[in-house]
Amino acid sequence: MLIPSSDDLWFLPLGGTGEIGMNLNLYGHDGKWLMIDCGISFDEPLVPSYRNGGENVKALHSVVAPDPTFIADQKEHLVGIVITHAHEDHIGALPYLWERFKCPVYTTPFTAEVLRRKLSRSKNANKVPIVEVQGGSIQTLGPFTLQWLEITHSIPEPYAIRIDTPVGSVLHTADWKIDAQPVTGKPFDHSAFRRLASEDILALIGDSTNANKPGFSLSERNCFDGLLNTIKPINGRVVVTCFASNVARLISLAKVAQKTGRYLGLFGRSLLNMYAIAKYRNLWPDDLTIVEPGHLGYLPPEEVMMVVTGSQGEPRAALARMAADTHHQVELTKGDVVIYSSIVIPGNETAVNKVNRALAAKGVSVLHSEQSPLPIHASGHPCEEELKLMYQWVQPEIAIPVHGEKAHLTAHAEIAKACGVKKHYVGQNGDLYRLAPQPSIRRQQVSTGRIPIQQN
Ligand SMILES: [Zn+2]
Ligand SMILES: [Zn+2]
Repeated sequence: MLIPSSDDLWFLPLGGTGEIGMNLNLYGHDGKWLMIDCGISFDEPLVPSYRNGGENVKALHSVVAPDPTFIADQKEHLVGIVITHAHEDHIGALPYLWERFKCPVYTTPFTAEVLRRKLSRSKNANKVPIVEVQGGSIQTLGPFTLQWLEITHSIPEPYAIRIDTPVGSVLHTADWKIDAQPVTGKPFDHSAFRRLASEDILALIGDSTNANKPGFSLSERNCFDGLLNTIKPINGRVVVTCFASNVARLISLAKVAQKTGRYLGLFGRSLLNMYAIAKYRNLWPDDLTIVEPGHLGYLPPEEVMMVVTGSQGEPRAALARMAADTHHQVELTKGDVVIYSSIVIPGNETAVNKVNRALAAKGVSVLHSEQSPLPIHASGHPCEEELKLMYQWVQPEIAIPVHGEKAHLTAHAEIAKACGVKKHYVGQNGDLYRLAPQPSIRRQQVSTGRIPIQQN
């Protein structure tokens, strides 16, 4: 069994490195482990689509989690689980895997509320000790001292974690971008990261999702402007689909509705859930009202805006039901406009196209963010110039690209190299990154894999 000594500082990813999705990261020092994030992913189709004629897309994708056997077998050495933010690829596996760890979970109030609601639908309701932490706070978990650093991303309350041990300090960025106008939460503040330059950060472990994209990511504010100017000239009903967890986008859409004289209704369980959490956590502006979906049917088209789930073509989500005429409240007709304020995640094209064909057959026009002349979607991950700035601020000795497939990790490592970071390790799940005493990477020290989980 791998056990780190008091001279060692190790990083060991069980999920999310060499792939996008199901993040599960471990840090090891002095006989103890710390877990950062515990997410899910959607597996490759189980049944090739030709076998059922391309229909029944819902059965094709299964939900998977990282195989946690390595750490579950020594859970007595696990000092805690930290959740950096509430995206499914960081939090989604916890309700299913927690029983195998049985240790406290540390996260911020918004993420804690998302987690409590997930747990309430699982067999672990009320069993998981959740410790709520505030931004900037410092905790000691076994031999690790953690500092929560506010950052910006595409969901409320995202955090980077600084981890200090007697043999070295690391910055685990988690998912981030530089957003000067994030619509909800504070603007990105580089001062905390700049300070790290003088504090000998041994390694930066960070997001690679958009490392192969030049420039900077767009701000949520750009997106608001783009949506406003896209929707203003439309006369028909407007239906917008986006990622439910992007509360800033929902607020932007509610503001657009207000400015264009439309009543806004939300359709789909995950949207209503996120809206309720945002209200409960005081993230939702009081002057932005939502109407009951049933009331929209009586209004003229130019006064209606609907935000719906289903941006990835999910067959049971609101948009697919509306497209298939099986939604119990809404029937879309010619003149209505569907706007995708989102991207199509690779692998979901077939499902999205199927929905779009049904919409086109009804005379409903469709606008995708990829084809829009105005920005109507913003990614939550750093592009090349943002990564460069982060490396210039933090100046770590070692760069460890995570949260990406091999091409993303390699692009990230190249950026770190160009910024003067001497050591950079491109690896994958199961590799042991030895940060101290002597930096090195040992390939495939732990067996990893994916396990199916049953979502309810
Ligand atoms: Zn992520
Ligand atoms: Zn994320």
